[in-house]
Amino acid sequence: MPTVHPHPRRPRWRSLAVLALLLTPLLWPLQQLAERYYSGVLVEQNRQTLDLYVANLLGTLRRYEVLPPILGDLPALRLALQQPTERTLLENANRLLDQVRGQTGADVIYLMDPNGKTLAASNWEQADSFVDRNFAFRPYFREAIAGRPGRFFGLGTTSGKRGYYFAAAVRDGERNLGALVVKVDLDHTETLWGNTPEQLLVTDANGVVILTSNSQWRFTASRPLDAAERAAIAANLPYPTQAPPPIKLDAQNWIRQDRELKETGWTVSILAPRSLLDRPVRTALVAGGGMLLLLMLLLGLLMQRRRHYLERIALDSQARQQLEQRVLERTLDLERLNSRLKQEVLEREQAQQELVQAQDELVQASKLSALGTMSASISHELNQPLAAIRSYADNAGVLLDHQRGDEARANLKLISKLTERMASIIAHLRAFARRDRHAPESVALQPAIDDALALLAKRRQAMQVELTRDLPDATLWVQAGETRLRQVLGNLLANALDALSEVPQPRRLWLSAELTAEGVDLHLRDNGPGFSQEALQRAREPFFTTKTSAQGLGLGLAICDTLMRALGGELLFANHPDGGAQLTLRLRAADQGIKTQSPEDFVV
Ligand code: ADP
Repeated sequence: MPTVHPHPRRPRWRSLAVLALLLTPLLWPLQQLAERYYSGVLVEQNRQTLDLYVANLLGTLRRYEVLPPILGDLPALRLALQQPTERTLLENANRLLDQVRGQTGADVIYLMDPNGKTLAASNWEQADSFVDRNFAFRPYFREAIAGRPGRFFGLGTTSGKRGYYFAAAVRDGERNLGALVVKVDLDHTETLWGNTPEQLLVTDANGVVILTSNSQWRFTASRPLDAAERAAIAANLPYPTQAPPPIKLDAQNWIRQDRELKETGWTVSILAPRSLLDRPVRTALVAGGGMLLLLMLLLGLLMQRRRHYLERIALDSQARQQLEQRVLERTLDLERLNSRLKQEVLEREQAQQELVQAQDELVQASKLSALGTMSASISHELNQPLAAIRSYADNAGVLLDHQRGDEARANLKLISKLTERMASIIAHLRAFARRDRHAPESVALQPAIDDALALLAKRRQAMQVELTRDLPDATLWVQAGETRLRQVLGNLLANALDALSEVPQPRRLWLSAELTAEGVDLHLRDNGPGFSQEALQRAREPFFTTKTSAQGLGLGLAICDTLMRALGGELLFANHPDGGAQLTLRLRAADQGIKTQSPEDFVV
């Protein structure tokens, strides 16, 4: 049977490496997705923060942008502008401005004459008071005088604080009386931002950072300045320096969102460090990678199970095929064997038929030969008494003629005795020839022996065979058939005589009986040549004989054996240690029966 090779097991680390290789290209899009998602979330958050901040900033600015025109209409201020030499008017104006500043929360509110000189200011009492200072160089003043709303971002020249300036002209018809300026403190809008990883960046129209949560970026230029811008800066002094240095900002590291403020020309930006994305992206990557790994392991497991399943199916079908093949081969073998057996049976039957035919022929021949021998012996046995009878009868006639009646009667008695003898001979012959198929019955052993011996007495005497009988006086009852037992005994005795005929004198025959648990063992021993080695083994076989065809048929022991077994007994044969054959009839004991002779057997 061909062996099935299991799949060679690949080392586990190789499978893992393959898995990792498969996993890697999947991790890149995963990272992209995670980054896109989390940056989307971040941008949305920052947009809201930016919106809030812008709204706050615009709210602050818009609160103040309406103030200058409204304040410019206040009569007390107009009076001060119209009569700038009147001290009381100026003091009133100072107080009024301070009062309004307190109410509005502005940083400083001040009144300038048409030349740019500050006439009154809310900080008139402070050390860094604007009163008498000239701010004509500031653009908001120029704008206001020109009739436009003045707006300006700049560092306070005295306070150094960042401020946004709203200015409006105060007019009396066509005449410029001066300008009113509201300065809003922007420093605090920066502190509103708080301490977050996201950074604030507000650049003005020049691209210079004016407000930021990162102090290092303050007053740096986010883009190169052109000549006009540089000149304007030098003229207006909005920053602490005239040449703002370029900003140190690595755009790669920041996610930036901008919002333009049209009113001021500013750009408000929120900068979120890219590192903020790293952690959630990494977490997502690890979780996603883990899930992918799990999925792939699961997939691998499923595929492995499927492969095992397919392998098992393949193995099963292979085994089934092999089995079918073997069954087919075996069937063929059996068919061949069967036909051979049929052939052999046919041959056997034929041989059997031939054998039976040969046996029939042999038996027929034997019968004829036996008939010849028997008729010779019968005629011999019967002729003698017949001759005697004839002579006694003749004598009786003569004696009667001579009136010698007594002697004649004596002769007739002798004749009667002789006919008795003849009847006995015939009866023995019939007893011998008759086949008995009756069930075993109680038979007396000694009389049967006597009959068998009587039948052969003549021959025994002729051969001068000395018989030793060692049989108990009490009748031994055995299970047998009268005729069959005689037939067996006659056969055994005839064989013994045959054997003894081969040896010189003294020829001896022993008959002895032994009582056993089951019954009686009858031993029949002679001092002939004994069984040859082959005869010991094969004597039971029908037609086995060591004698010439005229002497023996080889049926004697075979028939005896069969008869004995039919009687529930046994026939044993062996050689006696002192030489000669010893045959044993193992007979079963029977209840005491009636000592009779079958009327069929003995007709007297
Ligand atoms: P047959 O007497 O016709 O040969 P049997 O079946 O009676 O056939 O005997 C078979 C053979 O057994 C004999 O040919 C003989 O060789 C052997 N045999 C039988 N009885 C004796 C005996 N008493 N002594 C020696 N050999 C015997």
